[in-house]
Amino acid sequence: LKSIAVLTSGGDSPGMNAATRAVVRTAAFEGVKVWGIYNGYQGMIDDEIHELTSRSVSDVIQRGGTFLGTARSDEFRTEAGRKKALENLKSHGIEGLVIIGGDGSLTGGSLLSKLGGMPIVGLPGTIDNDVWGTDYTIGADTAVNTILDAINKLRDTASSHRRIIVIEVMGRKSGWLAMMSGIAGGAEYILVPEAKFDLDQICRELKESYTDGRRYSIIVVAEGAGNGIEIGKQIGAKTGIDTRVSVLGHIQRGGSPSVEDRLKASILGERAALAVISGVSNVVFGFNSGKVVSIDLFDSVNNTKTLDPELVRLARVLA
Ligand code: ATP
Repeated sequence: LKSIAVLTSGGDSPGMNAATRAVVRTAAFEGVKVWGIYNGYQGMIDDEIHELTSRSVSDVIQRGGTFLGTARSDEFRTEAGRKKALENLKSHGIEGLVIIGGDGSLTGGSLLSKLGGMPIVGLPGTIDNDVWGTDYTIGADTAVNTILDAINKLRDTASSHRRIIVIEVMGRKSGWLAMMSGIAGGAEYILVPEAKFDLDQICRELKESYTDGRRYSIIVVAEGAGNGIEIGKQIGAKTGIDTRVSVLGHIQRGGSPSVEDRLKASILGERAALAVISGVSNVVFGFNSGKVVSIDLFDSVNNTKTLDPELVRLARVLA
């Protein structure tokens, strides 16, 4: 192909810029025209499409967020919206598309692909690490390190005051962020949507351990497992121990991407660009066991990634 486009969609994640940069520079290296679609699928519908050059992506590899902007678009969920988006792409002579986003964005991409018209390649860009078929998603490593930093700081204050600290982290459907940061941060309990827990039992154990002299406890809660504030209130009431809640919120999305996110996003960006330029379609590139893999786009969006039960088990053993 001679002209491709790239967009970021869904929640922003650190490393999206590194991936976009790699797509743009690879296309430029190959002598292929490359366009940036601003503000996700909504920008595709509203024709916010501009040509990019190698220079357009200077000074972005170290930045979190996405310089292309991102959006959630209800119009794109309709077939009329997707048809309009496709027409806009064609009006610029765009022949192929790279989509960087989470599960929802890739689902949108698979529906766009069903309309025909051009090759589509996806990259998993989400802090949740919940895209099926790949161990890795762009931004998850940075986000988990951001959470770990917060846990470390909260631990200092928790131990000084003999408190229980409940930390609510992102993950509506996926407990990956909670599980990884909780294990790495030495949390006593990690509550995730994928595994049942008994709050009464937890409260009994907490009380016992405080009676035995424990100074503090860290409990990490994925937002999909329950509301952190509510859980904190219940723990405080049931144990009688001073309990504080910290909802980390959007701070988890921001920040300069880690080495892993910059490197892997760059590798995946190049692969995506080369694939779409050569006409490959309906694949998502990711990593498994440290190696780049290509996954069928429809398989990726039609399956649900599960949390490794070994991690759930390990968390229980170590707590
Ligand atoms: P994150 O993991 O950060 O939440 P995401 O890509 O999963 O990212 P979503 O909000 O689910 O985020 O999806 C982003 C956009 O993709 C939506 O606003 C919508 O335009 C499009 N999209 C999502 N699901 C669908 C769908 N089933 N059909 C068509 N378009 C969709």
